[in-house]
Order: sequence, then structure tokens, then C-alpha cells
Amino acid sequence: MSDTLPTQERASQSSIMDGNSFRKSNIGLLSPGDQELVERRDRSLGTSYRLFYQRPVHAERALGCYIYDDEGRRFLDAYNNVASVGHANPRIVEAVSAQLATLNTHTRYLQEGILSYSEQLLATFPAHIDRLMFTNSGSESNDLAIRVARLWTGGQGVVVTAEAYHGTTELLSRGSPAISGGFPDDPTVRVIAAPDSYRVEADDLGVWFAEQVRVAFDDLIANGITPAAFLADAIFSSDGIFPAPTGYLQPVIDVVHEYGALFIADEVQPGFVRTGETFWGFMRHGVEADLVTTGKPMGNGVPVAALAGRAEIIGRFGDEIPYFNTFGGNSVSIAAAQAVLDFIQDENLLEHVGRIGALLKQRISDAVAPYAYADDVRGVGLYIGVEIVLEGTTEPDSRRALAIVNAMRERQVLISVAGPGNNVLKIRPPLVFGEEELELFMDSFAAVLAEVAG
Ligand code: PMP
Repeated sequence: MSDTLPTQERASQSSIMDGNSFRKSNIGLLSPGDQELVERRDRSLGTSYRLFYQRPVHAERALGCYIYDDEGRRFLDAYNNVASVGHANPRIVEAVSAQLATLNTHTRYLQEGILSYSEQLLATFPAHIDRLMFTNSGSESNDLAIRVARLWTGGQGVVVTAEAYHGTTELLSRGSPAISGGFPDDPTVRVIAAPDSYRVEADDLGVWFAEQVRVAFDDLIANGITPAAFLADAIFSSDGIFPAPTGYLQPVIDVVHEYGALFIADEVQPGFVRTGETFWGFMRHGVEADLVTTGKPMGNGVPVAALAGRAEIIGRFGDEIPYFNTFGGNSVSIAAAQAVLDFIQDENLLEHVGRIGALLKQRISDAVAPYAYADDVRGVGLYIGVEIVLEGTTEPDSRRALAIVNAMRERQVLISVAGPGNNVLKIRPPLVFGEEELELFMDSFAAVLAEVAG
């Protein structure tokens, strides 16, 4: 069987899940102990789960930017926006442990912690975003955002991009084409092309992208469906990472508002200073988000997520529908979120990410310059993509991209791929990535680029 096919026989492949997944045909590459773990996973967890890499990493502990395997080998983690302030960050560990030993309950009791955290987090948004609701995951936040947007607009229609991933609920699986075969048709959802700044030939990417949104809204209306929302991740991570040019979302959001729909900014990826320019990714573009969803980095691994929005929009929902989410906003999750926010602010991570990210991008650009198979290094802050293409074309070369990812893994440096062609190297280290890590990364990266050039 070709190594481009997963061996757990599947009808289809998902870019986000299968792009860099372990194929069972490679089980012979694993130690006997790890082979046994793979078999046990299949037996207890079933076949829907995916492992990373041709040779999965058996993670046993982690600290800062490093993961250690069961034999004590150290891996540089250059692919993690969950442990964004560092694995096992002592400040988070301490705050969570102390809270767990004191009180852990839900939002039907008066507590101070959730309020001071909310006030501080809301201060990171533009002034018009002034309400916060808590959930446990990015999926739940997006799901709630769509409910809120549908109630506010009285419409049902949702527009997403071609390789978007927004979550795993029934509703969000219908707005996540990246799941591929698992992506069900939904009459209220329209899928538009991503703002692929590398391949789209347009004088103005924003105007071109705004036109895609307009066509989708018109098509919804022609089918009797009122537009409710444009749901997008302002860095278009699973679409292939498209952060530039800064400001290109402005004409798009103008169209969204012209149709009376809401812009839901999915900040699960670009939020919490990942871009090194603004606290939230949408703010780089100078646009007004109506609703903002968060997830992964908010609790540095502790499940905590949120929906933020304008008082009148969140208020309309609140006036009609009571909200209770047992674990959403519990005392321990809030302690984790507070410690993360404190760390980001005390350590001035925004500035750090801007500086180290620019340096990393420059070093990566220099390193790939001699190779015709690598092109268009793009990104912002600590979110960097590199196109791996068939030489002299813009055609994705997934085979070579995965060879790079797996060769990096063999050198104990963890990255992955993004985009519909599984060919955009995705380099997204924890935000505490420093100069020592940068040098370590570049040593392996330069060696691997030469290795796969033949
Ligand atoms: N939105 C985006 C942009 C994501 O990347 C993800 C997760 N990969 C989600 C939403 C869903 O988040 P969660 O897995 O926490 O439900």
C-alpha cells in the first residue's frame, strides 16, 4: 500500500487529521513497547484517533519548550499552541494546585476569581467587546457563538473557508471542511476559497476575498437562508497560514456587516499574543469582530475557553436563554487562565513573540533560499509557514513536506504541516521559545533541508 494512504482503511482523508498522521503500515518502525501501545489504543479508543509522525513520540514528561520521551530523549517542541507559556510552567502549576486544594466549583456560586479574570481579559479587547461567557473548548465556544449569532440575526447561514477547522460538535463539524470525509453537507453552510496569498492572483487580496463572501451570502439568500455569520480564524491556520497583507480583512468584514451578519473571529490559533503584534489576531487587521472565540492557549493545557462579544449581542441571547455549563469557568480553570494571563503580561510576551518570531522567520527564509522546492516563507510572530512545492511550480509537494517533518522528528524537533495540500510546513512553537531554542531549531532545519534536497 502506498505510504500516502492511511492503513486504517478509510474512505477519505482529512487534511488536518491525516496530513501528518502515523500509518499503521509503519508499525514495524516502533519499539515493541510502543507497538503494544498502538494496538491497545486501537482496541480501547477505536479508529477515529490519529497519532502524529511516521514514528509517533511516546511523550512522558515535558518542561518549557521540551518534551521528553519514555527513554529520556529530549524533543524540541516547535509545534504547540496549547502549552503556550511553556510545558509545566511552574506559575501555572502552582496556581492550579493551590486552587484545586481550596475550592473547585461552578458559576452558580458567587466567586471573585472569575470576575477579576473577566475584567482583566476584557481589557485586552477593543472597547466594544465587553462581555465574556466561559466554556471548556474551542468547539464549545464556536458552537455557542453560532447560536448567539443566529439568535441575533434571525438568520441561519454560516460562511467558512475551504480548509477551515472550527470544532467537533455536531454543529461545528458542519462548519469544518478540513475534517473531509466527516464533513457533512449542510444547507445553511457555504464554503468559500481561502485567501491563499501565494496562489490567488488578485491586485487586492481583501477585495477578492470580500467578493467570495458576497457570492456566498447571495447564494444563501437565493436559497431562502438569511446570513448569520462569517466564521473565520484571522490567521487561516488550517487553510495554510495567511496572515498578510495586514488589513486585508477590512473589506471582507465590511461585506459581512453590509449583509447584517456577524463576524465571529475564531481566536483559538492566533489569540493570546501568538502573532506578536496584537493580543488578538483579528486586531492586526484593524477590523471589528462581533464575537470572539478562544480555546487552546487560554489555560496552558487546562480546559478553559470563552466567547467574548458586544453586550447587546450577548445580552439578547442571555435575555432569552439561560446559560449554565458545569465545567465552563470553574474555579480551577479560572486559576489556570489567570496565571496564564499574568505570565503573558508580566513577561511582556507580546514583545518577545514579535521579536523572536521576526528573527525566526528571517532565519528560516535565509535557510530555504537555496532550495527551489521551498517558497513563500510567511507568518507573523511565532506562527510560520513554508510552502514546499514541486520545483518551479506552486503545486504542493506533500511528499517532500512530510519527509521534512519526519526527518525533523528523527532529529527530535517537532513541527507539522498545514493546508489543503499538506505541504505547508507549520512552525508554531510555545511562546516562550527563546534564542537557545531558535539555534537548536535552525541547526536541525538546515541539515534536514539539505538532506531532502537530493
Ligand atoms: N478553532 C480552531 C481554529 C482550531 O484550531 C481548533 C482546534 N484545532 C478549534 C477551533 C477547536 O478547538 P477544541 O479542540 O478546543 O475544541
